[in-house]
Amino acid sequence: MADIISLLPDHVANQIAAGEVIQRPASVVKELMENAIDAQATEIQLMINGAGKTVIQVIDNGMGMSPTDVILAFERHATSKIKSADDLFSITSKGFRGEALASISAIAQVEVHTKRADDEMATYLKISGSKLEDQEVSVAPTGTSIAVKNLFYNVPARRNFLKSDKVELRHIIDEFHRVALTHPEVKFTFMQNGSELFDLPAVNFRKRIANIFGNKIEEKLIPVQEMTTVAGIEGFIVKPEFAKKSRGQQFFFVNKRFIKSPFLRHAVSSAFQGLLRDQFHPGYFVYMQIDPKTIDINIHPTKTEIKFEDERNLYAIIKSMVKHSLGMFQAAPVLDFERDPSLDTPYNFQQNPPSNIPSIKVDSRFNPFKDSEKGIPKASKSSWESLYSGLEMPNDNSADEELKLAIDEAPKVFQLLRKFIVTSTRSGLLVIDQQRAHQRVLYEKFLTSITKLDMVSQQLVFPKEVELTPQQIALFGELEANLNAMGFVVKQKDNHLHITGIPAICNDKQLGQLFEDVFSPPDNHEQVASFSQADYMAKILSKSLSIKGNLTLSVQEQQALVNDLFACKDTLICPFNRKIFITLDKEELEKKLD
Ligand code: ADP
Ligand code: MG
Repeated sequence: MADIISLLPDHVANQIAAGEVIQRPASVVKELMENAIDAQATEIQLMINGAGKTVIQVIDNGMGMSPTDVILAFERHATSKIKSADDLFSITSKGFRGEALASISAIAQVEVHTKRADDEMATYLKISGSKLEDQEVSVAPTGTSIAVKNLFYNVPARRNFLKSDKVELRHIIDEFHRVALTHPEVKFTFMQNGSELFDLPAVNFRKRIANIFGNKIEEKLIPVQEMTTVAGIEGFIVKPEFAKKSRGQQFFFVNKRFIKSPFLRHAVSSAFQGLLRDQFHPGYFVYMQIDPKTIDINIHPTKTEIKFEDERNLYAIIKSMVKHSLGMFQAAPVLDFERDPSLDTPYNFQQNPPSNIPSIKVDSRFNPFKDSEKGIPKASKSSWESLYSGLEMPNDNSADEELKLAIDEAPKVFQLLRKFIVTSTRSGLLVIDQQRAHQRVLYEKFLTSITKLDMVSQQLVFPKEVELTPQQIALFGELEANLNAMGFVVKQKDNHLHITGIPAICNDKQLGQLFEDVFSPPDNHEQVASFSQADYMAKILSKSLSIKGNLTLSVQEQQALVNDLFACKDTLICPFNRKIFITLDKEELEKKLD
């Protein structure tokens, strides 16, 4: 019998491969816009006719291509973005497969003008069905213009598969939104059949969201941010009362790339639990920066799904971050305290005189370093687990659980092992980690004072001098405004800081350690600056100033701490994502005694 296997001709192979990358006009829009971003364009124009079925044109003012490169660009696996397999683990560009232009030109008629800034003349190319039909020197501005005409003209089956203009236009707008939201620093315009759909100037994230979804959305946005070793996160959630029946306002971005993640979406939804009516979906715009080595964006051909190495922690972080912001901005119901209805006011405890905070006495026998090795338990898996409760049982009643935690009128408290505070609730027993509780209280207090600029300072009788290294001086420049907002009165003189005032809740004996902590942040400080410096500062200060384990507290101090904790917006976890307390309710006690 004769051999029956033969190699497919290139143009057929290209057409088949094209089907993976280009499903519809919106896929072309995505690829062309992403190429423009990768080419460092600051202005991108999108023009379509006939819902992209007739013409899709993207014009950018990016770096352009040389006459040779532009021809290579249409070859399969031709890319300027990676050189070796190693590069796959540190991708910062949108594209890297070198497939888009080859695929598009296999199934459409493509015309290109491109010019680099230093070149006198531009290059014009015309390619149809993978065939180079024309190549000329032309006159065009710096950048690249690619027009894609009659998509699927040579693959009738696919062309017939396209949906109505309305549906295809919807897909294009969705892609446009995703790219435009990822890059608020780039100016975008979008024309459809000669009339303007969007004109988005270069702005910040918040304004970009407003320019796309209407100015009214701005007042419905609640900021979220979190800086952890797993991810740096910032963005916005939409207040629960403005949730939508569609999922049209749900956006996750990882390293400047739109992604879909049902798993992380669940983290957000579970934080909204109890706040939304049935069939309504929360809105969110969440931007994450994650070490590219810990993610795999290669899992899906069109790259909207990615795999995270640290998925479970990311889930917990996002859930607690959203919960925290909902609480901070008073979108979530507070604990059901019969004893004090005024707790409905966010952060009302900050108006309390500072004496309400347990005073921080330094125990001279107590060595903080020894303590941090032995005394504080490491975050165990179990401390995360409660945060996943919603994942395993979407309908659990953890919100009710929280409500049951209301403390009795005047909480009876006692200290256990100089580390825990034990108190009773209406439904059982509560064991609170004193250090974490205090960190939470201080953290919220500092965060509020940074936002509201109303921290009370106390003047130092003996001003203090702290010497700084040149790096620390640079860092001081960045932190100064937040330090002031937190109640520090600090001036820099040459390589010294001259401290004349400190927050009322701080004591001057702690000052040395505190400034050491502030100026030698454990993590790389660029990250701090780029994500949420205020949040980070609040965390450092709360860690530095909090009472530690192994410290005896008076009954009044214990009571004050319990009250302050339950006046916090998030009472469940400390700023470093560890459980603050555990409960033992009647049933559990009865079961244990059975
Ligand atoms: P990839 O983006 O995966 O590298 P593409 O097929 O999308 O693959 O593009 C191939 C190459 O063509 C890119 O690597 C880039 O060098 C070049 N290119 C494509 N579009 C542009 C553009 N708008 N401006 C400058 N260069 C471009
Ligand atoms: Mg590309």
